[in-house]
Amino acid sequence: MSSEADQTVPTSVYVHFPWCARKCPYCDFATEPVKTHTIPHEAYADAVLRELSSRAADLQERELVSVFFGGGTPSLWDAKALERTLEGIEEAFDSVSDDVEVTVECNPSSLSRQQARELHEAGVGRLSIGVQSLRDDHLRFLGRLHDSRQAVAALEGACAEVPRVSADLMFGMPGQQLDAFGMDIERIVAIGVGHVSAYALTIEEKTLFGSLHKAGKLRVAPEDRYADLFELAQRRFTDLGWKQYEVSNYAAEGEESRHNLHYWRGGAYVGLGAAAVGCLDRGPGDAFRWRNEPIPQRYLAHPTHRTETENLGPDEIVREALMLGLRTARGTDLVATQRRAGRDPRVGRERDLELAMQKGDLVQDGDWLRVPHDRWLKLDGIVRDLF
Ligand code: SF4
Repeated sequence: MSSEADQTVPTSVYVHFPWCARKCPYCDFATEPVKTHTIPHEAYADAVLRELSSRAADLQERELVSVFFGGGTPSLWDAKALERTLEGIEEAFDSVSDDVEVTVECNPSSLSRQQARELHEAGVGRLSIGVQSLRDDHLRFLGRLHDSRQAVAALEGACAEVPRVSADLMFGMPGQQLDAFGMDIERIVAIGVGHVSAYALTIEEKTLFGSLHKAGKLRVAPEDRYADLFELAQRRFTDLGWKQYEVSNYAAEGEESRHNLHYWRGGAYVGLGAAAVGCLDRGPGDAFRWRNEPIPQRYLAHPTHRTETENLGPDEIVREALMLGLRTARGTDLVATQRRAGRDPRVGRERDLELAMQKGDLVQDGDWLRVPHDRWLKLDGIVRDLF
């Protein structure tokens, strides 16, 4: 740990693991289905570490505050290979925060209690488990590899071995009843999970669900049912004393994802691995974003190859700060955004801001601009109207 931490820039690392045991029919993430015995565990760790060392100059005077292994299904990655990668990341930074948060996304079908223990021993303090539902009919509809029994076993094993556990839940499946969704929430919280991400099922064009929907062969919940399920989640978690600290994320006291908060607040992050995205500020009003080679086999051969790069100017920095920040309960920090963008984020949209405030869609608390909690159902429209 470094005593120079206060002079360094807090920075997160996202490591993308690009394989899953099966492609879910609704998923448009950068991930390939793979026969799990063919996963190149050590070669992928080698490639990520090679990429990392090529970025050494970018990591100077930075403090590592969080590492997130996402995917794909990083719980398919051998824990020793993941540990080697994590060690390499920590060594590459000038300093590592005392409370660095290390998260691994897991699927119930590939997370045994033994594996949760190995991940904890490797330095992982938080597991995020893709439960989606505790009802077998919904899990079958979603094409998941696990059933509700496996989901509960994975949550119990994770809670027994790792200090912090999060579960992903999905809503909007056809025929989903409010009571059943509420019961899933209560069961998951009773197991000991401290954080839940609850996402609406969305139909993405380039997926199997997208094709079926286009052909009129996929039934999903009607629009007003989505709203009812969203509000039910809000009520249940509030009754449990949890906070909805972002539109899709709920946490018990102190259990917020520090990695995601860092990202939503415009913090610097380095992306490693196939298809990973990173973004680092170069000075006020100037940031650089890149995307890595998305095809795993090509990434393995050329781990330093970036397929997309983008320079962000003041307008893009402000736009993203509003789009991401206003999805959180705290909102967007106007002073921090001004510092990053090199200009006042309110300039050029004074009229739109005033209108939104008159309607009660936006509130300014000191330096923070936020959307009140009771307006979150129409959050997307409120933010859209600012551009
Ligand atoms: S397991 Fe997750 S990342 Fe993999 S295909 Fe399914 S939803 Fe996508």
